Amino acid sequence: MQINENFLKIQSSYLFSNIAKKVNAYSAAHPDKEIIRLGIGDVTRPLAPACIKAMHDAVEEMAHAETFHGYPPEYGQDFLLEAILENDYRARGVDLQKSEIFVSDGAKSDCGNIGDIFSLENRVAVCDPVYPVYVDTNVMAGRAGDKTENGWSNIIYMPCTAENHFLPEIPTEHVDLIYLCFPNNPTGMPIKKAELQKWVDYANREGAVILYDAAYEAFITEADVPHSIFELDGAKQCAIEFRSFSKTAGFTGVRCGYTVVPHDLKFGETELNALWARRQATKFNGVSYITQRAAAACYTPEGKQQIRDTIAYYQNNARVIYEGLRDCGFTVYGGTNSPYVWLKTPDNMGSWAFFDLLLEKIQVVGTPGEGFGPSGEGYFRLTAFGSAENTVRAVERIKAYFGK
Ligand code: PLP
Repeated sequence: MQINENFLKIQSSYLFSNIAKKVNAYSAAHPDKEIIRLGIGDVTRPLAPACIKAMHDAVEEMAHAETFHGYPPEYGQDFLLEAILENDYRARGVDLQKSEIFVSDGAKSDCGNIGDIFSLENRVAVCDPVYPVYVDTNVMAGRAGDKTENGWSNIIYMPCTAENHFLPEIPTEHVDLIYLCFPNNPTGMPIKKAELQKWVDYANREGAVILYDAAYEAFITEADVPHSIFELDGAKQCAIEFRSFSKTAGFTGVRCGYTVVPHDLKFGETELNALWARRQATKFNGVSYITQRAAAACYTPEGKQQIRDTIAYYQNNARVIYEGLRDCGFTVYGGTNSPYVWLKTPDNMGSWAFFDLLLEKIQVVGTPGEGFGPSGEGYFRLTAFGSAENTVRAVERIKAYFGK
């Protein structure tokens, strides 16, 4: 027996386990101190009542032979596919077909699994800092090469820092697969239509595929920021889009998302849609009926309103963090089209040193930018997903410690 040795190349400890270890050790040593967690990107508000009702009703259906549902359709129930097409795409002027949408258990799985349909020879480009899943899954597949001081030898890192307004620069060399995530995790920064169009044009010129993660689409507030890459000319020929109900509707614990693979996206005569359909049908058995009913309820008039209210709650937290830190003298980014605020650490402090300082002095937990890649060093992420009360208290603690 041999194992997939690529797994040995990956750091065994994932960023958030490192943070959890530090926080647990601190809390064991200081049981009297109350820690406020604005670190990981998990939501805290309950599901929308419309979703809860849909789930209760669906459970009731499962209780009777006449309305019971067994295996779901592999790619999603019609009622959900229709609701997605109508609300997330047609309403924005994007015309897609049901067969181009693949409902799944979330964007993490899909971003990770999409590599199955691409050759190991492909050159991969990622933003730096980056959501770690894109890189780690390429390492597991054997597409990343070897670990070097600056990341992985076969991965092209596109730095996103204050100097370039957190927008990656178009590579000067050929790349095959480009992971883009906007609004971005961790920087919280969006991309405007005109900028994204440059990427679509590059991908079409180079015969590359853009893997577009729109998990934070629901937080967009500005008009010239696209909600979907398919709002751009030529994107159906070069892009795959990942969407998630996690941050949109609080489904982090329910699990539902979807991936769009347009029929126009082809390698020679082969549609990538057919490859993904085959991959999903073989390795994935569909999303539970109860979950899909809950997801569809997000698109009802009451569901939409309830979801909007929850997003507004988090957006207000983001504003509290952004303005509080700015008033305190920090240089801050993000927060406007995103639940993430990305701040420059004071006095060029290392991001883990800043993490330790916040934990030890004021018991506020955030995420060190370095954990998302070398260009994240010197930055720090705070999330708006905590309760409003804790968000205000965390900002007060920061102001009291660093305040002017
Ligand atoms: N993509 C990005 C950029 C994320 O930040 C996250 C979660 O934090 C995900 C995907 C995961 O989404 P899901 O819960 O649908 O798996």
